Amino acid sequence: MSYGVMNMKLSQFGKQFTSGAGILSLMDDLGNALASGGDDMIMMGGGNPGHVPGFQDIIQKRLQFLASDKDSFQKLIGVYDPPQGEKDFVDVLAGLLRREYDWDIGPENICLTNGSQAGFFLLFNMFAGPCSDGTSKKIRLPLAPEYIGYADLGTNDDFFISNRPRIEMLEDNLFKYHVDFDNLNIGAETGAICVSRPTNPTGNVLTDSEIAHLDLLAKEHGIPLILDNAYGVPFPGIIYTEAKPVWNENIIVCLSLSKLGLPAARTGMIVAHEKVIKAVSGMNAIMNLSTGSFGAMLAHEMVESGEVLSVSQNIIKPFYQQKMEKAAAHFHTQLEGTPYKMHRPEGAMFLWLWFKDLPITSHELYLRLKARNVLVVSGHFFFPGLEHFWQHQDECIRVTYSQDEELVKKGIEIIAEEVKRAYS
Ligand code: PLP
Repeated sequence: MSYGVMNMKLSQFGKQFTSGAGILSLMDDLGNALASGGDDMIMMGGGNPGHVPGFQDIIQKRLQFLASDKDSFQKLIGVYDPPQGEKDFVDVLAGLLRREYDWDIGPENICLTNGSQAGFFLLFNMFAGPCSDGTSKKIRLPLAPEYIGYADLGTNDDFFISNRPRIEMLEDNLFKYHVDFDNLNIGAETGAICVSRPTNPTGNVLTDSEIAHLDLLAKEHGIPLILDNAYGVPFPGIIYTEAKPVWNENIIVCLSLSKLGLPAARTGMIVAHEKVIKAVSGMNAIMNLSTGSFGAMLAHEMVESGEVLSVSQNIIKPFYQQKMEKAAAHFHTQLEGTPYKMHRPEGAMFLWLWFKDLPITSHELYLRLKARNVLVVSGHFFFPGLEHFWQHQDECIRVTYSQDEELVKKGIEIIAEEVKRAYS
């Protein structure tokens, strides 16, 4: 007897969300490597944050308090929060952003999501896809490469439209991507603009003037600008250059507690016009009833006091910056003699390497490295929405440097060996 589920026919939605998503292969790599002992695998693929001792001490103390205080404990485990998220946390976050940055916001401008990834799913599908007037809108990524996790979030095909960057060549084998405003022709097809800052996968930090220009374009076209600050300002602040935190009623700022060191708490925050917050809260109610309170309660005190900003500046950022400096220096030594280029590391926890005219694709390089127990991510995943194929897509890899220093060093040596083999 054959049951319906064995020859299940998937809906458009079912197909969309089960067909070879890049993010799935990345999370599978991460999960499988860890599940199968994982000890031999050098994890330079996923974006798992490092374990930052100074930060974990603070959280451990807070957790001990929450567990020992009866009222807090009951709130921590036994209450459904409103769909907008844990109210006290939303209040103190609004207070912090108003106080520190003069953002004209109140609690009605903030809602929580179960991870910022879930927030992007809701926002993207709110602003793109088929519309009631018969048109269809897309999410505009003005600078590809852009975050792999966006690529499969659309509930219909052809969901993104993206633009190649302008490439500035720098000294010491470095380069930097810029938004190519001369060729950024935003039309009626665009429902919202989105950029990650710092950018995953490149560690690029769009300049304040690029953000101001995008803000202007978004306003001119009557569409929102979504700023993904998962690694950025105001926290966790993993930015090695300058970047001003910005918000206005047309900007949707997305924040996360993950890269601060709480990826398991699954807490994302959206700061936006009240109308957007109402819509996202409604969707939260439909999809989740309410959001989890764990992250909000863990981070409450440090957000209320503003300590989250000093922790970001004095603990989180230096932790990643010194790892970045060591990893970058080691790459420069190991790759000498090859035509490699590295995106200037300006933030986040990745190095982005470009191997011009590499005789094999970056995917093949990824497979060769995986066979040698080094996990990286092939660059080709990071170009959703590009209209025409670009050789560059197959010439780059993303390397995470957040893990153990010795392992990262060993991983870099193996990457360099394989790159040299491929060029020869
Ligand atoms: N945005 C960027 C740029 C990311 O790199 C990530 C995770 O790696 C996310 C969003 C989603 O993070 P989370 O759902 O843990 O908040």
